[in-house]
Amino acid sequence: MRRSRYLLNTVKETPKEAVVISHQLMLRAGMIKQLASGIYSFLPLALRSLRKIEQIVREEMNAAGAIELLMPSVQPSELWVESGRWQIYGKELLRMKDRKDNDFCYGPTHEEVVTDIVRKEVRSYKDLPLNLYQIQTKFRDEVRPRFGLMRGREFIMKDAYSFDVDDPSADRSYQAMYDAYKRIFSRCGLAFRPVEADSGLIGGSYTHEFHVLAQSGEDEILSCDQCDYAANVERCERQIETRSAAARPFEKVATPGKKSIEDVSAFLNVPAENCLKTLLYQNGETILACCLAGDRELNETALKNLFDGEEVFLVDPQTAQEKYGLPIGFVGPIDLPQSITALVDREIAEGGPWVCGANQVDHHFVGVTADQIRGKIVNLGQTRAGDRCPRCQNGHFTSHRGIEVGHVFKLGTKYSERMGATFLDAQGSSQPCIMGCYGIGVSRTMAAAIEQNFDEQGIIWPLQIAPFHVNLLNLDPSAELTQQTCDSLVTALEAKGIEVLYDDRDERPGFKFKDADLIGLPLQIIVGMRGLQGGTVEIKARRTGQRQQVALAGAVDEVIAQLQELGWGKERV
Ligand code: ATP
Ligand code: MG
Repeated sequence: MRRSRYLLNTVKETPKEAVVISHQLMLRAGMIKQLASGIYSFLPLALRSLRKIEQIVREEMNAAGAIELLMPSVQPSELWVESGRWQIYGKELLRMKDRKDNDFCYGPTHEEVVTDIVRKEVRSYKDLPLNLYQIQTKFRDEVRPRFGLMRGREFIMKDAYSFDVDDPSADRSYQAMYDAYKRIFSRCGLAFRPVEADSGLIGGSYTHEFHVLAQSGEDEILSCDQCDYAANVERCERQIETRSAAARPFEKVATPGKKSIEDVSAFLNVPAENCLKTLLYQNGETILACCLAGDRELNETALKNLFDGEEVFLVDPQTAQEKYGLPIGFVGPIDLPQSITALVDREIAEGGPWVCGANQVDHHFVGVTADQIRGKIVNLGQTRAGDRCPRCQNGHFTSHRGIEVGHVFKLGTKYSERMGATFLDAQGSSQPCIMGCYGIGVSRTMAAAIEQNFDEQGIIWPLQIAPFHVNLLNLDPSAELTQQTCDSLVTALEAKGIEVLYDDRDERPGFKFKDADLIGLPLQIIVGMRGLQGGTVEIKARRTGQRQQVALAGAVDEVIAQLQELGWGKERV
């Protein structure tokens, strides 16, 4: 492809609206164009990379036994009313009406539609297992669309849905997807990690997320340094360790103006880990006093899950004082008003003595023992780096940032029961299908690849998903010799299946070098009069920056050798 005939305009300056590197570089490399908030056009260069990711996804899904179909993106509300999600999905669901005033939505996901297909098509256990997938545009009206393609409103997803006759079979379908995802992200050339994730609303289900490891990741993941346990911090299990402190008589002490754990800890000379904090949350009309160790963060996901995933939010200090007589900064689990539900983190149900607020301004209790603390014992605390791993009891957690690019989820019978997706078993009785759903953010994966592969100069594409393999630069585009040489190089390379972007523009060498580094194709072939007079061209590897003068006659072979080293020609990793 000749650059002069291609739609590809690069930008030197970093666009102000872009915070993360993938967004900056995609805009600068002329890959995407914003149409509205969170809605982008994929320009030709981006589309080539996207298609390669899709192709890898397709090959691995097919190899794992999934079957491709394509469902409509506009979906009638009736299906969503049946599944119960029309009411609860909230504003992320883009709703619209047709000319007859019927309600529709633009699909953010396709459980309803696929379940509708299966309930009409599947009759008996002989039709199962079935795994159906598509690669398609989704729309989610995200509260905060940001980071370019990472959190768009319109984006491309691969979604697959499995239907099985029983749990062991559903687990095999899940495992097949889990393994396929590992192959997909390895083939994309990415460093990634599958982690256990929060399954939210649905009991009896389980889930893994696949994270591309990158500094800019929105999620925190913890992994054990000794075994292979890794989890999203939202659901990372904990090893409860008893925290003891020197015995001390129970008494109320004055702590004037000492509200924060740090202040109380310093003032009373008690380590923060032996102080308690009590956070007031609200769930509907219920006020929750959540009591946990002073040095531990509260895990809001765990708290929400105690209430079937319903929203919980912090009570503001004024309401706490006026409505419940509780002074924020001095709240504690002893003698709380009867109307308040006390929740006690497992970590503090043993150990002590503790320091805690006395529910009176400027006062705390010291010498509080575990048996004085009333309340329901639950898991509230968030696991963190340094904590001991509960699985192997041996290692400790380290923290990483991750970008969630994929998600495998064992759904169970939630949709099949509500929507009547049943089959007749061998005895002739009707059973609900056991479902799983499996998503990959295809467009997010492209952005995540850049988050993981860049330097000061620009993008460094992993070969497998690079828009082209080679960037051919003609440094003297007006000379006939360089033109002929480049033309025959393009022909020879393309004959070998190598994709070439040929910079034939009438621009200065320095400009072309910068552009080539910004776009970040794996190899550059640099052709200039000076080299050709000595019979050579230069090959530069984008990732290492290594340059090599090679004889023109051996250039194609050298390119092939270097591409092979980068993984070219390997079918499946
Ligand atoms: P998140 O927690 O990031 O919002 P999610 O749990 O809503 O993700 P799923 O419903 O599991 O995501 O969707 C499957 C995949 O689609 C995700 O793993 C992610 O890669 C991708 N994805 C989800 N939301 C977006 C978005 N707004 N923009 C781009 N990709 C997205
Ligand atoms: Mg989401």
